[in-house]
Amino acid sequence: MTLRERDQAVIWHPFTQHQIDVEALPIVRGEGAYLFDEHGNKYLDLVSSWLVNVHGHSHPVIAKAIYEQALKLEHVIFAGFTHEPAVALAEKLIQLLPPGFSKAFYTDNGSTAVEVGIKMAYQYWRNLGEPGRKRILAFTGAYHGDTFGAMSLGKSTGFYQPFHDLLFPVDLFPLPTTWMCDRAVEAKEAQVLNQLEEFLEQYGHQTAAIIVEPLIQAVSGMQMCRPEFLRQLEKLMKTYDVLVIYDEVMTGFGRTGELFACLKAGTTPDIICLAKGITGGFLPLAVTLCQERIYEAFLGDNFHRALAHGHSYSGNPIGCAAGLASLELLLQPETQQQINMITAVNTKFLSTLPDTAKARVCGVTAAFQFNIQSGYGTGASRQISKRFLEKGLIVRPLGNLFYILPPYCITESELKQAYTIIIEELEGVTT
Ligand SMILES: *Cc1c(COP(=O)(O)O)cnc(C)c1O
Repeated sequence: MTLRERDQAVIWHPFTQHQIDVEALPIVRGEGAYLFDEHGNKYLDLVSSWLVNVHGHSHPVIAKAIYEQALKLEHVIFAGFTHEPAVALAEKLIQLLPPGFSKAFYTDNGSTAVEVGIKMAYQYWRNLGEPGRKRILAFTGAYHGDTFGAMSLGKSTGFYQPFHDLLFPVDLFPLPTTWMCDRAVEAKEAQVLNQLEEFLEQYGHQTAAIIVEPLIQAVSGMQMCRPEFLRQLEKLMKTYDVLVIYDEVMTGFGRTGELFACLKAGTTPDIICLAKGITGGFLPLAVTLCQERIYEAFLGDNFHRALAHGHSYSGNPIGCAAGLASLELLLQPETQQQINMITAVNTKFLSTLPDTAKARVCGVTAAFQFNIQSGYGTGASRQISKRFLEKGLIVRPLGNLFYILPPYCITESELKQAYTIIIEELEGVTT
């Protein structure tokens, strides 16, 4: 039996309709920005393997850090015990984030990092003696993960119809999304801020927190907003004492051009969720960091005030060692130069597209629309993915939205060539 056949016999893949998507492509090896199949064909990973890869595949520096840590200490229960990699990674992140962050809570994926963020915010108010602050605000189209809390926040993505009855209520607001040559952005922002202010005027004292994917709403179609909007949002939330949670699971670790979206926007959220790129794309690890006053509200002489949350693999030492190695690579000037190069190539190619493409760039993340029959996982977008695969490119359209988010080690000529192929191909299928 081939690997494909064995896969079909035993594997149920994520976000997959198996009656239609019959074949998964076996990958045997990764190197730099490329993945290789069993026949030696290579594919340029333009989606960073579901937005996780940072420095390229099988990077030797991260691989070595993982190997060495595994020989020393692979794992230890993280309640009542600690270890160097977890502490060192937390110290490093706190040093890099805006001022005031003081505590790091480890989990092992983006969804749970969000669950922890929501739990921190919700219980914070209870612990302070304001249990009436129960409302959680989120933005339409936001994606925060697939566990029940995260699904509740992201129900407007339309992914979770079967579970709607089981989700908790969330107050949704439109995101003032923008793109190149968008002249209406300021009016859109003002409208949303007005809508939020009217809401808070009435319900502010009942509101625990707002959660936002800062600058880039990723999974719902790389919808972007301006740093100006985040700054005004922060001001408004401060006025009504509403906690601000940044879901930087995707935007963290350089995707916006800066290390974190909050640094690019010049804002300081109360809680921040990090995952995806944290280990360079090697291992599952996530962390939720908070400002000191949040942590302090959980202190007390009994367990009821504590945060009742934990995972078997919380703070896994090997994951943390990978995180430290990846961060070290990320902070090298050469990596910043690569990020700048990718941003420049993105901007150059996207500015050649017509206005209807609603082209948008935020650092290494670029996206544009093409007028093909849309919808997540529809025939048209699947066929296009397949055609790109035949040309050696991994591209996964979200409906009619195409995005480019390569590992930072991609070369300028590889990226330019990819753009040329993509634009040529799409011009051929435009309706
Ligand atoms: C991917 C993603 C998540 C969920 O992360 P998982 O590791 O897939 O659970 C949450 N929030 C955002 C913004 C994401 O992009």
